[in-house]
Amino acid sequence: MYHVGFIGLGIMGRPMCKNILKAGYEVTAFDPFAKEALDDVVSCGAKCGESNADVAAKSDVVITMVPNSPHVRAAVLGAQGVLEGAKKGLDIIDMSSIAPLESKAIAEECAKNGVNMMDAPVSGGEPKAIDGTLSIMCGGPKQLFDKYYDLLKVMGASAVHCGDVNGAGNTVKLANQIIVAVNIAACAEAYSLSTMAGVDPEKVFEAIRGGLAGSTVMNAKVPMMMEGNFKPGFRIDLHIKDLNNALDTGHGLGTPMLLTAQVQEMLQWLHNNGSGSDDHSAILKYYEMLTGTKICEAGK
Ligand code: NAD
Repeated sequence: MYHVGFIGLGIMGRPMCKNILKAGYEVTAFDPFAKEALDDVVSCGAKCGESNADVAAKSDVVITMVPNSPHVRAAVLGAQGVLEGAKKGLDIIDMSSIAPLESKAIAEECAKNGVNMMDAPVSGGEPKAIDGTLSIMCGGPKQLFDKYYDLLKVMGASAVHCGDVNGAGNTVKLANQIIVAVNIAACAEAYSLSTMAGVDPEKVFEAIRGGLAGSTVMNAKVPMMMEGNFKPGFRIDLHIKDLNNALDTGHGLGTPMLLTAQVQEMLQWLHNNGSGSDDHSAILKYYEMLTGTKICEAGK
């Protein structure tokens, strides 16, 4: 078995790292800003890295799970980063959701130093990270995907190779994030309408969840809306980051991004009004502001 390095122990990284340990892999972990999470994974059997470079020096494959493109750049290419400690032939699996073109550019820098990279962002959120049932979308050389398929399956229910080009996984992740954002906004709009028309939101949910309008998003997010429970989950600020990456990519390609742009404006308003750390189901609050109606309390 190869030695796994794990960098970034936030909401997602911590349980993913624990699942790798549970599967019997040797792991060296590091996160400069998450001491409690680092102590937690060390208590589960991980070795404690001193820096990202130190993790790389002790590993055959390094997984990164950090917020966005600049964080991956810093963790991999920056001072005390992975490349500083890497031996030739090291493999990196970046599981963060970042801009596809940045994924490609960072992989090209790595290749100049004899280091291989694939992008493997995930969907499913914290519950699926804990259960090891994430959906993993991969971009980069197929042989790297095949080599680490078993490791990916420790963290995910599915792992799909989306293309040989670095960034292909992140392109698919952007598609996922557009669909999730628009679906949440549609749920919030529909629940505003039915609440203002005097129908109990619980009845709306019960009546339509099994029909064509039903979705995984509806099942996960509408109960949170009805309880007014916006504990993340997936933070609004992270979704703003993903839709920014989607808009940038779309504008670069000349693809119309009409719905994405609308939901991005809602998320930006929520961020500006103190909800950036709420779960993205708090899009409902935007509709509460527009309608002057407390929709979430109507469900209690
Ligand atoms: P998070 O903010 O909880 O955790 C990120 C971790 O990265 C933090 O602990 C931070 O200290 C660490 N970090 C930042 N810069 C670093 C560096 N240079 N070196 C080492 N560590 C560094 O974020 P998260 O929710 O775990 O999300 C991680 C990624 O997964 C993001 O790209 C996010 O979009 C994606 N994602 C999140 C969810 C979710 O539900 N939270 C779902 C799917 C995908």
